[in-house]
Amino acid sequence: MYFNTHTHLNSEELFDQRDHYIQNALEKGVNHMTVVGYDVASSQRALEIAHEYDFVYATVGISPNDCLNTTDEDLTLIAKMAEDDKVVALGEIGLDYYYDDVPKEKQMGVFKKQIKIAQDLNLPITIHCRDAYEDTYNVLEKANLKGIMHCYSGSDQMALRFIKLGYYISLAGPVTFKNAKMPKRVATNVPLDSLLIETDDPYMAPVPLRGTTNEPANCIYIAKTIAELKGLDEEEVAKVTTDNAYKVFRLL
Ligand SMILES: [Zn+2]
Repeated sequence: MYFNTHTHLNSEELFDQRDHYIQNALEKGVNHMTVVGYDVASSQRALEIAHEYDFVYATVGISPNDCLNTTDEDLTLIAKMAEDDKVVALGEIGLDYYYDDVPKEKQMGVFKKQIKIAQDLNLPITIHCRDAYEDTYNVLEKANLKGIMHCYSGSDQMALRFIKLGYYISLAGPVTFKNAKMPKRVATNVPLDSLLIETDDPYMAPVPLRGTTNEPANCIYIAKTIAELKGLDEEEVAKVTTDNAYKVFRLL
């Protein structure tokens, strides 16, 4: 049994065939998943899917890559949706300095306003962070929340700092890529009780499926790689990462 903590069954690519992808996942033992919002419409779809299946949960939020035109009205909608019983976190929210299509100040403003929503509702947060580790850390240090560093691509040292703040480190397809040294170091050096698995589909399909449409079932390859790197049984990685997901999403 696996818990995929970050899928985009709500994306244009997967949404219409969500039942097919969910059946594929169940066949592989992926019997828990969280569908993650990245703008208002995708957050609404995440909620829709979460209400169709018992074992599917949702997050709602506006990602740093999708916040160029975000208004206060949009954030009010997110706050309203976040009150739904199937919402287990706010996200994905954060900072992305890899792309420069959204000014840093705008990203920071939308990030902080959503942190406020999470604080008001006492929800954990799912963080998207790319090339913005120090700025993200500084915001989180003051936020006094818990959550997930999703599709983590930073250093193992930085990961340990986020863990100290109360964050889990979630690994996706890159940990399976031959040349991805850093995610492999993170998988090796971060204790299993701080790790989560995810697909962040529909892109970045893991080895051995690179180049195909990524889907929730594929999180088994992330668990397999972590097991190999740590010298553990796949079952143990599946079990501990599932327990971790239950804790961070407060499903216990
Ligand atoms: Zn995502």
